[in-house]
Amino acid sequence: MKTVILAGGGHTHLEVLKRLSSHHDSSVKWILVSASRYHYYSGMFSGFAEGLYGIEDIRIDLKQLCENKHIHFIEASVESFDPEHKTVTLSDGERLTYDRLSLDIGSHTAPDQIEGLSERQTQMKPAHLFPDRIEACRKAKELVIIGGGAAACEMAFSFHQWKQQHGRKYDRITVIASNEFIDQRSDQVIEAMFEEKGIHFIKNDYAVKVTDRHVITKNDKNILYKEVIFLGGAQAPDLLKTSGLPVDQKGFIKVNAGLQTIDNSSVFSAGDCAALVTHPDLPKSGVYAVRQGEVLYHNLLASLNREPLADYTPQQRALILLSTGGMEALMLYGKWRKAGRWAWLWKDYIDRGYMRKYQ
Ligand SMILES: Cc1cc2nc3c(=O)[nH]c(=O)nc-3n(C[C@H](O)[C@H](O)[C@H](O)COP(=O)(O)OP(=O)(O)OC[C@H]3O[C@@H](n4cnc5c(N)ncnc54)[C@H](O)[C@@H]3O)c2cc1C
Repeated sequence: MKTVILAGGGHTHLEVLKRLSSHHDSSVKWILVSASRYHYYSGMFSGFAEGLYGIEDIRIDLKQLCENKHIHFIEASVESFDPEHKTVTLSDGERLTYDRLSLDIGSHTAPDQIEGLSERQTQMKPAHLFPDRIEACRKAKELVIIGGGAAACEMAFSFHQWKQQHGRKYDRITVIASNEFIDQRSDQVIEAMFEEKGIHFIKNDYAVKVTDRHVITKNDKNILYKEVIFLGGAQAPDLLKTSGLPVDQKGFIKVNAGLQTIDNSSVFSAGDCAALVTHPDLPKSGVYAVRQGEVLYHNLLASLNREPLADYTPQQRALILLSTGGMEALMLYGKWRKAGRWAWLWKDYIDRGYMRKYQ
């Protein structure tokens, strides 16, 4: 019997699980090793932070899903893997052997470039940490968000909205971005909304140090904080670097268009933790992770059967529906920038539809 280990219950592996029939080929044993019993859907993180969704709205029970599909589920972290001997070591000390290993363990939000941040920030990733960390940020009198991408902007809007509705009107939220939030056209809209809502933002400056009370920027600004979160880009999990397989400059594991690691045909990787050599600038986003699922599923089976692998080609344009709080959203698609309630309703429809496929 061949063994396929799926390490991490991320967006891509969820798609693989969806495609596996409950009567799958009995000559292949599938194992899902996940640090958490649940998969948390990042598209609904902002709505959860704002209080629009409850915990059961945003998570999927992986254990239950695996039981339904006769897939062995292990709730543990993968501590390390040895591509030479085809073994995986788990947090409880157990060692498993595999014929194919697939990594979808996501990313972290703990950069070591900002002095003092790692030990002081409220860490939002890995994904299963997210729900527990929200309460402290909602109630922080001074919340500082380092990072200027879609996730950082969405979370600023969401926390602001929550605070407005819970009598915390005098709390202060500050977003620090080293350059543009998204792009020039989007930034005009986002900045106008930040100003209207009283969300402070600092652009073209970056955090260099975090002390017990302040975030200090390169331009010598001292910003008081009670909670600080980093949403300035995905960081690679350490176990990728120590595996001996090639990683990119940031430490993400290199894969070819077939999502197969360079130098080792038995290990595949997808989602945030993978660096696609054919598209090195592909954003770390759930949208791409989900789309990789179909190719990954096909290729894991094809490689066991020694059949040709399929190529993953990212879509050229991705639709972004960025929640701006109070059941409104900003749509970004190609050159289009449009905001309104309809955009949020559309986002809600897509996100709930996505969850219904698994729940
Ligand atoms: C606050 C926030 C909001 C975001 N909002 C959006 C959004 O609206 N839309 C969007 O497209 N993207 C969004 N993103 C980005 C998105 O979260 C990631 O791109 C996406 O989750 C990547 O999916 P993944 O499959 O790579 O990993 P994840 O979905 O992060 O899943 C990885 C899983 O692996 C598990 N794991 C981690 N380490 C191990 C280990 N060692 N062993 C076993 N299991 C492990 C974790 O518990 C986790 O469940 C957001 C990110 C953040 C931080």
